[in-house]
Amino acid sequence: MTGIGFELLATDGRARRGRVTTAHGSIETPAFMPVGTAATVKAMTTDAVAATGAEILLGNTYHLMLRPTAERVAQLGGLHRFMNWNKPILTDSGGFQVMSLSDLRTMSEEGVTFKSHLDGSRHHLTPERSIQIQHMLDSNITMCLDECTPFPATPAQAESSMKLSMRWAKRSKDAFVERPGYGLFGIVQGSVYPELRAESVAALSDIGFDGYAIGGLAVGEGQETMFTVLDFTEPAMLKQRPRYLMGVGRPSDLIGAVRRGVDMFDCVMPTRSGRTGQAFVRRGTINIRNARHAHDERPLDAECGCPACQKYSRGYLHHLFKANEMLGPMLLTWHNLHYYQDLMRELRQAIADGRFETVASALEARLAEGDLEATTDPLGKPPKPQKQNRPPKAGKPAKSEPTNPEPATPNTATQDTTDE
Ligand SMILES: [Zn+2]
Repeated sequence: MTGIGFELLATDGRARRGRVTTAHGSIETPAFMPVGTAATVKAMTTDAVAATGAEILLGNTYHLMLRPTAERVAQLGGLHRFMNWNKPILTDSGGFQVMSLSDLRTMSEEGVTFKSHLDGSRHHLTPERSIQIQHMLDSNITMCLDECTPFPATPAQAESSMKLSMRWAKRSKDAFVERPGYGLFGIVQGSVYPELRAESVAALSDIGFDGYAIGGLAVGEGQETMFTVLDFTEPAMLKQRPRYLMGVGRPSDLIGAVRRGVDMFDCVMPTRSGRTGQAFVRRGTINIRNARHAHDERPLDAECGCPACQKYSRGYLHHLFKANEMLGPMLLTWHNLHYYQDLMRELRQAIADGRFETVASALEARLAEGDLEATTDPLGKPPKPQKQNRPPKAGKPAKSEPTNPEPATPNTATQDTTDE
């Protein structure tokens, strides 16, 4: 085997059921990749991550090149051994986080010079250097260095940015050392413009990659625009290669993108939200910090097989977050990752069975239902409505009790991986 393998096992409409094979094992697609930024999926052991069903992790080149450095990871046996994860790993190119995290960036045709957000040290990232770092990390799937075109961008800005990314893609390919079970993905850019996306797909196909990512989405454009871009980009992409939608997203984003032919995803949302008390469940989202959960004996999600749902009540999880106990973020991260993997398993099975649309629509309908009705507290502590009647202090707006029990879910997925 040269590069990485991809087998298209079944299709249903535009949805695809496939299998990616690498030197560290195979990945059933559509697949969700948890983000393990600094050589760890925050709050989780790798055994726990594997127990959720995850078959591949994403590592961040930007973070690892700065600390502990790619050279250190290589000296300690590569990223798999370093973090005790013997399954496939995909690394990003570092470009996105250079743009979002570092100080004093200077872009040129050659690459980008920046100052570390950790200690102010100066670094230079070129397509060649990014590929070299990802080799040192021993990443199974290496990503080309590109410029994630900001949103919004004018057609002229989007075109010049996309063309730079295409030149960098060629340089990335030239720098990549082919090895069995290791592959390189190109990244389609072109913002929201169909002709630019088409030009980018064609340029990358000419160079030839093991897989193709769709970049420059989940940057604030909103779900509807993202789906529109997928609608005109995906049909032009090579059928026999995996397609990876970078930085996406919420459960409804995943369902909609699988419907449009995407095979791979990554996002910080399940892990980052888990650490702040937000759980993704079959009926939408739950903020476990809310008072309505304090006395609730029910699990987060009665249909979930994760330890948080099998062994603990909402009341206990609520207590952990209120008391700032570290087990709270651990259990909610575990639940969220387990739920995301369950969702992908259901979608894969539905495609294999030729029932994708039926299953996807049912999943979407349940997500829209919202959480279960709150139960009554047996200890009887009703909310104190008197507080609301107190006149506000001069110059200060009245603080109302939260009436909406759940947090506003961001209505756009985000590729921002700053604190992950
Ligand atoms: Zn669970």
